Amino acid sequence: MTDSYSTFVNSGIGAKLAGALGLPRPAVLRRHRPGALLTPGAVLVGGHGPAPLAEEVRKLLGEWDIPVATQASTSVSAVVLDLTEIAGPADLESLRSLLAPALKTLMPSGRVLLIGRPPAPGKDPGQAAARAALTGIVRSVAKEMRSGGTANLIHVADTGVADIAAPLRFFLSGRSAYVDGQVVEVGAPAAPTSGQVDWERPLAEQVAVVTGAARGIGAQVARVLARDGARVVCVDMASAGDALARVANDIGGSALHVDVTSADAGGRILEHAKLRHGGLDVVVHNAGITRDKLLANTDADRWHSVLDVNLLSVLRMNETLLSDNGIREGGRMVCVASLAGIAGNRGQTNYAGSKAGVIGLVEALGRSAEVRARGITVNAVAPGFIETEMTARIPLATREIGRRLNSLAQGGLPIDVAEAIGWLAWPANAGMTGNVVRVCGQSLLGA
Ligand code: NAD
Repeated sequence: MTDSYSTFVNSGIGAKLAGALGLPRPAVLRRHRPGALLTPGAVLVGGHGPAPLAEEVRKLLGEWDIPVATQASTSVSAVVLDLTEIAGPADLESLRSLLAPALKTLMPSGRVLLIGRPPAPGKDPGQAAARAALTGIVRSVAKEMRSGGTANLIHVADTGVADIAAPLRFFLSGRSAYVDGQVVEVGAPAAPTSGQVDWERPLAEQVAVVTGAARGIGAQVARVLARDGARVVCVDMASAGDALARVANDIGGSALHVDVTSADAGGRILEHAKLRHGGLDVVVHNAGITRDKLLANTDADRWHSVLDVNLLSVLRMNETLLSDNGIREGGRMVCVASLAGIAGNRGQTNYAGSKAGVIGLVEALGRSAEVRARGITVNAVAPGFIETEMTARIPLATREIGRRLNSLAQGGLPIDVAEAIGWLAWPANAGMTGNVVRVCGQSLLGA
């Protein structure tokens, strides 16, 4: 679905009119293109005190041939600040003095990436205050960014050596175009990652399953995973028929008709992945439905069908997929939640309940010692307003509100959700587990 308003105000005459009338002009976002530069200009890297991760960032940028700036110059494409060593609120001045001038030199679709540590409960309150301050600062900077720029915060754990290469690549790149104002937790890798990474094909040699792959977000996820090197099993209902076959053929993957609510869904998916592709590394639980009504008018059928497809099926399939014979060691699971599961939504108690449930299960599995011991990570994305057939059906006035109520003043595209899911599926992204990454342009809902 197209956003006609954005198209108009970004055209010649539309831009003039919008300027004259003071209308908002949503920026055209920089999105990933295979083979394109990771980021179109130099990256300013700094920090507070010894800033050990700034050193690591400079090293990685050097390996990736990205020029590094040490002070705000005429134009930089991104600013990365290591604030892991801040000990109290006074140290936040380091952030202000580096970031304030740099914000004036940022290119369109610029990136601000802060690296901090989560506040440690029960420890030094001054340090906890300074660390917590970073979340308020990054969410405010995200709201002040112009021309499609975004700001995000990486929390690295106090213990272990956080593996920041994959998060750094994602946030600097066009893959994170619609991820804004987020805080993600990155720890030590769940399992050692294998040396050299082909960042153009970060999913090479992986076998991935995507449920609900016949259309919408799921079809786009299948395409992105295949583009990035995976062999993809596209799963959908038998009624999806030709649409599923088309997606699978387009990407050289295989199609499998399975209703995810059937008792043997997990077993059939696993069997297919093993027989056709030799095993299973990545599962994307994307299939989902809505049956909206006010709770007062919700009958048992609407209630159970939504909970069954969106939540219970995931729990049931995981009994097989996460068993010893299921996803291989070092595998990845990514679930699709929703902002409705965070903010709630009128008329969606069943849907919001199911998606909040998905967040609960991801947080539990992501932190489970048993799952971690096998090097498997479990994360979720929570899409906001995404331009799909589902949102095209929303009445115009409500749709316009949903679309504009975020820092980027536009809806996201299925590719934005797919890129975030793809990134969480990379073998190289081994330090993130139990996260819920909102892909919502910093929506005001549930903020
Ligand atoms: P969609 O309706 O376009 O596609 C969903 C796919 O899932 C369809 O192909 C459908 O056939 C399949 N499916 C449904 N029930 C199934 C079952 N029992 N077994 C197998 N396949 C089944 O939806 P979408 O907009 O692409 O959404 C995909 C996911 O993203 C869903 O989980 C949805 O809740 C979530 N989401 C979407 C948005 C949005 O703005 N579109 C926002 C937040 C979350």
